[in-house]
Amino acid sequence: MSVGGAIYPPLNQRPVKNTIVLFDVDETLSKSRQLAKPEMLQLLSELRHKVVIGYVGGSDLSKQQEQLGTPEIPVTALFDFCFPENGLGAYRMGEKLQGTSFIEWIGEEKYKLLVKWILHYIADLDLPIKRGTFIEFRNGMINVSPVGRNATIAERNAFNAYDTTHHIRTTMISELHKAFPDIGLTYSVGGQISFDVFPTGWDKRYCLNHVEADKQRADGVDFKTVHFFGDKTEKGGNDYELYSDPRTIGHAVKDPEDTYRQLKELMATF
Ligand SMILES: [Mg+2]
Repeated sequence: MSVGGAIYPPLNQRPVKNTIVLFDVDETLSKSRQLAKPEMLQLLSELRHKVVIGYVGGSDLSKQQEQLGTPEIPVTALFDFCFPENGLGAYRMGEKLQGTSFIEWIGEEKYKLLVKWILHYIADLDLPIKRGTFIEFRNGMINVSPVGRNATIAERNAFNAYDTTHHIRTTMISELHKAFPDIGLTYSVGGQISFDVFPTGWDKRYCLNHVEADKQRADGVDFKTVHFFGDKTEKGGNDYELYSDPRTIGHAVKDPEDTYRQLKELMATF
């Protein structure tokens, strides 16, 4: 297959110098939880002959392998840089780079204080129902759910309606801010029943650490121009921070078709 079998110049020998083009995955390269179209992969392959390319996605590598890779072609062969989990995981030309984790960052002692506080708070919450798994421990964050992640779909809907009138999650977050004013955590409400807790700055901007560190390698590149394509670029969206970061040139897209169109325009300027 031409996409996977193509030979690309080393990163520091791409024709358009010191430039990387980064992409969000969901709704930017492929429809949510669906496969990327062959035309998109073909265009990315053409792009890769000119510049360094990478993706940055919130979920882990296995999800991106499903959406962008094939059983024969690992996703790490399709991009120069792969940044699962916003770059907490990182691959360069298929090689795994040093990553990091939430627990490494926060440390056991501080984490215990946080977990104790959260479980006490939830224990004292008077909700119509409670289920199980109030804290889910993930590599780059914890996810906190007052009703519990074991809730069924009907129970999730019921909690969400209750939360809309009683502000359970937003109140809990403001209490967390008061209890841990200097802990350096960001609390992000998403979905129906939970909120995420992660170190401030560990959004998609995190991947720029790896991009900027590349110049320290013998075969590395001093990236001066960083393009970023994303669909959730409005404030509150998960592409907003990287899109609006002064270190990037942001491209807001509506969907993968729009990405394809805008990318062709950009490539015409290379
Ligand atoms: Mg997206």
